[in-house]
Amino acid sequence: MGFYKLVLTMTQNTVNYSNLLRYDAKHVWHPYSSMSNPAPVLAVVSAKGVYLELADGTRLIDGMSSWWSALHGYNHPILNQAILDQSQKMSHVMFGGLTHEPAVTLAKKLIDITCDNLQHVFFADSGSVAVEVSIKMALQYWFAQGESQKSKLLTVRNGYYGDTFGAMAACDPDNGMHNMFTGVLAQHIFADAPATLSEGAWKAEYIDDIKNKLKNNHQQIAAVIIEPMVQNAGGIRFYHAEYLQQLRSLCDQYNVLLILDEIATGFGRSGTLFAYEQANIQADIVIVGKALTGGYMTLAAVLTSNKVVQGIEADGKGVLMHGPTFMANPLACSVANASIELLLESPWQENVCAIQQQLEQGLKPCRQLKTVKEVRVKGAIGVVELYEPIDIKWSQPLFTELGVWLRPFGKLVYLMPPFIITKNELKQLTSAVCEVVAKI
Ligand SMILES: *Cc1c(COP(=O)(O)O)cnc(C)c1O
Repeated sequence: MGFYKLVLTMTQNTVNYSNLLRYDAKHVWHPYSSMSNPAPVLAVVSAKGVYLELADGTRLIDGMSSWWSALHGYNHPILNQAILDQSQKMSHVMFGGLTHEPAVTLAKKLIDITCDNLQHVFFADSGSVAVEVSIKMALQYWFAQGESQKSKLLTVRNGYYGDTFGAMAACDPDNGMHNMFTGVLAQHIFADAPATLSEGAWKAEYIDDIKNKLKNNHQQIAAVIIEPMVQNAGGIRFYHAEYLQQLRSLCDQYNVLLILDEIATGFGRSGTLFAYEQANIQADIVIVGKALTGGYMTLAAVLTSNKVVQGIEADGKGVLMHGPTFMANPLACSVANASIELLLESPWQENVCAIQQQLEQGLKPCRQLKTVKEVRVKGAIGVVELYEPIDIKWSQPLFTELGVWLRPFGKLVYLMPPFIITKNELKQLTSAVCEVVAKI
């Protein structure tokens, strides 16, 4: 009997974590990691509120919200109950030819809280898949109207839209994450990344590059895809609302759809419920994911307008060619419904505002350091950008020692804590960042 059988038959209290970690290192892939030379990972036994509990009993304050997701912290009684209740009814049924209350309720909630033109919802099983679906919608919109030359996307550098092939093709072509695939990816058009807020007040010329690319290529462009107000995994860059406003007008002028990827920014993270609200615009397609279920389960949704639906149906066939097996999973939809209710009933705007102020205060000392290029904060997102990449193998154990869970990425040490974090817990996070960054 192999070792793994041993582990699997043990109850949690008797799990031998050193064996488990050894097996993990040999056989289990982690995100963006090497199998032959794996970086160390920590075993989490449980999580509650903002705390992760490790196998050795260490408790860490989570500064990552498990990648933008766990808004309400972990192990929340209301979210737990939603899953429990739904599991007593059905954990899953196929969505072809069947429907259910959790999905319809969630569709209504999403339609009610997003801009008025968005009236139709497609449920996908992850953010990347939702991005694929949004691209399909945009292409089918034009193809069905006999405009098959409109098959390219226009996007901006420093974007991140996911790891599947359609999504990868829109990600920054040079930032290293996917550039080995360039030769096999769809070729899209890239404009300069939007100027950031730290580059100073809005200047008219900031829109010129994308404007020219639209002007010169609009006959082949189906849609512009962009993350509104904040570019996330591609650099955590905050940009001007004017950029989005003008981009919306340009899309109208040149007859191109606008897809907004709110997967990271959605559900309050950037200070408004959705980031596009800060630019006061409507998009043709909006994608949500990550925090949609409060970080409990994988689920994403693509929302679109009557205009797009009518365009897709213009050829008389009118079918959107997508249908994942686990589409609109009832457990995921139920916990999403509970999470959205919990968010809207909470003073989330005050919480995010307080987090923003405390991040600004708490990260201030980093501004004095010679190794620090910039400190920036927006909503419940705080970033310390360094001149040089920070080595995770060195910094991760230091953060753990200081009792926090943070995962720097390249030159960025970033925080996006759960909205329920207390002042003292957040202070511990920002102090840990200052202490570790000072040691560089
Ligand atoms: C994380 C992310 C995605 C991809 O979502 P997955 O659920 O990881 O597939 C797409 N777009 C943005 C803006 C993201 O932050």
